[in-house]
Amino acid sequence: MRFDDYFIAPDIKKSLDKMGFKKPTDIQFKSIPPILKGEDVLAIAQTGTGKTAAFAIPILHLLSSKKLRRRVDGIKCVIMVPTRELAIQITETFDAIGKHSRVKTFSVFGGVEQGPQIAKLEKGIDILVATPGRLFDLVSQGHIQLKRTEMLVLDEADHMLDLGFIEDIKDLIRFLPKKRQTLFFSATINEKIKKLAYSLVHNPIRIQISPKNPVAKNVDHSVVNVEMDDKRFFLERFIKERETDKILVFVRTKVRAERVCKAMQRVGIESATLHGDKDQKDRNKVLKAFKDGKIKVLIATDVSARGIDIPNVGFVVNYDLPEQTENYVHRVGRTGRGNNRGVAISFFTKEEKAFIGEIEAYTGKKIDHQEVKKEDYQATIDLSDDGGNDWKSLIENAALDNGKPGKKKKKKN
Ligand code: ADP
Ligand code: MG
Repeated sequence: MRFDDYFIAPDIKKSLDKMGFKKPTDIQFKSIPPILKGEDVLAIAQTGTGKTAAFAIPILHLLSSKKLRRRVDGIKCVIMVPTRELAIQITETFDAIGKHSRVKTFSVFGGVEQGPQIAKLEKGIDILVATPGRLFDLVSQGHIQLKRTEMLVLDEADHMLDLGFIEDIKDLIRFLPKKRQTLFFSATINEKIKKLAYSLVHNPIRIQISPKNPVAKNVDHSVVNVEMDDKRFFLERFIKERETDKILVFVRTKVRAERVCKAMQRVGIESATLHGDKDQKDRNKVLKAFKDGKIKVLIATDVSARGIDIPNVGFVVNYDLPEQTENYVHRVGRTGRGNNRGVAISFFTKEEKAFIGEIEAYTGKKIDHQEVKKEDYQATIDLSDDGGNDWKSLIENAALDNGKPGKKKKKKN
């Protein structure tokens, strides 16, 4: 079935066609009809399979075909997301699909001033995409009315219902009408969270695509044993062997992100960092530059692990393993999106071997282990452009300075 054959507003079909969306993906095929019928939906589908449009298309159809009541009545649909970047991205998708409709979508999130957001809200909007903290502030100050909200969406639902967010979400739900349509979307969910989700919905339709294998089939992922002190040499080599591709590197902390960025700089690799310590303007600028391909290497914490859709990320490197097993799925899911293929590689230290087992138990499959021969491992360190402080590389670098610099032996991984 093609979008042409759907019973949806012609203006939405026109936008989908412009965006190059001809056929629905599996999750779109299964979610659109029940959402159009007004059912509650709990939908789980792998990363990069088009979950945003799976709820955006029916929501935009429902709201555009309805004679929009006066907007000052309040917001008709609220979409809650975990990060500011995701709020912006989802708003862009709604704007693109709803381009020819009269439906207005707007996002609010923390880290920037409230004033301009309030001014925009006062003009009236139909769909609000929000991070819970800022939404709660604006609701409690009376700038946002949720009395007329007919639909609530939780994207990255398992994360939204988990420790860090659940209290905010519970507080916010009190402001919403009891009679509403609730939609949960995510790539991962566990039993505990599923129970909690069910307590917030009414006879939901449960849709699950490939429940046994949460890692998207488009991603080839493997692990390699690299000791802590050697990680930077392996990253350097990995990047230098793939100079034309976009590479997203995940690290465990903000401090490590900056440190790895500096280490790459020392060996002539330009990269940028994205983490929670940067101000929002910087975060937006960096993400845009990476999306546009002006930055080829982005070093990020888990703040960018969920939902972010960056075109043509060829590779994901887990420089450090994620702290939560489900984040493995989300991180590697930043590559291999839509119809593209992607490659992900994770460094693990000897001490972390058991954790690989936990990830395998979570993903339900053994992950390929790449074996590095002893001499190849040493060569990766020796061939680094990092002067470092060991005498061996100092002598080598001196030799290079006198001889032909920059000529590196490339090896297959
Ligand atoms: P998810 O939320 O499942 O991780 P997204 O909604 O971010 O995935 O979509 C992943 C990518 O797939 C996006 O780049 C999007 O533009 C593209 N996409 C979504 N639906 C379709 C479709 N029906 N046809 C072609 N591309 C699509
Ligand atoms: Mg998504």
